[in-house]
Amino acid sequence: MEKEQYGQGYVRREDGWWLSDTEEEYGFQVQWKVKSLLHREKSDFQEISVIETEGFGRALVLDGIVQTTERDGWIYNEMITHIPLAAHPNPSAVCIIGGGDCGAVRETVKYPAVKRVDMVEIDPRVVSVCRSFLPSIAGEGEPDPRIRFLYEDGAAFVKEKKGEYDVIIVDSSDPVGPAKVLFEEPFYRDVHRALKDDGIMVCQSESPVFHPRVLTKVRDTLKTLFPDVRTYLATIPTYPGGIWSFTLASKRTDPLDGIEERLRDKDTRYVNRDIVRSSFRLPNYVRELLGE
Ligand code: SAM
Repeated sequence: MEKEQYGQGYVRREDGWWLSDTEEEYGFQVQWKVKSLLHREKSDFQEISVIETEGFGRALVLDGIVQTTERDGWIYNEMITHIPLAAHPNPSAVCIIGGGDCGAVRETVKYPAVKRVDMVEIDPRVVSVCRSFLPSIAGEGEPDPRIRFLYEDGAAFVKEKKGEYDVIIVDSSDPVGPAKVLFEEPFYRDVHRALKDDGIMVCQSESPVFHPRVLTKVRDTLKTLFPDVRTYLATIPTYPGGIWSFTLASKRTDPLDGIEERLRDKDTRYVNRDIVRSSFRLPNYVRELLGE
């Protein structure tokens, strides 16, 4: 197949096509061997492709960056949802910003306490492509009736909300293009206002190895708004460096009280009661980074 059909990030080697994710500043590259290109299109917001990889199953690729794979996408999706949802005693109204692969929303509806999920994704084509080509991540059949799919900019959406949500999950792509605003202070201020008085938010805050400044900026900004802000980590092989960070910000001062009990009997492959505690225990280099 010609390069034209593959798009940005793909390179031809002797043994076939590979997709690469490069951290230019560090001269570091991760590559996936591509078995086949299942779909490719240019939406109003980004280039969307779905590939079959040699060893990681199918993968969603946006603008040449792997977002999620069948092999390990569930680690990310469980960690970005179960931690905030189990931290809240009654997560009735939930908002997900981004999350077009639908993996996070699938985990969210595992909580019977959840009565409504507003899923605010800027690009309807990501949802549609994932529902067609990645059913193992996005789910099959009719979506759960508690989910409301809203196709708009998450930053504009939360601006209009006040005291409406128990939990807001910011499942964004990297801070470039349309996702850049989702890492800025005005957005976090609007998220704070959109939460109820005991509300909790979480966001993915990038790699502490390759993007330490994103992590510290997210955390420092959230600390000016919320009384309790914590970083937690997970190992996700697909993301360069393998270590990924999430930042939890809560209006209540001890969001982890009772979290283990609320995770009892949850249908998960990564998250368990020990992982919850250990994921908040940070190695010294991350503590130093965070000024602790
Ligand atoms: N798990 C993934 C990761 O960290 O690489 C990201 C999940 S998901 C695919 C990210 C989604 O955020 C994309 O579908 C993208 O269209 C969406 N997105 C980006 N900017 C957005 C915005 N301003 N409002 C709502 N959704 C946005």
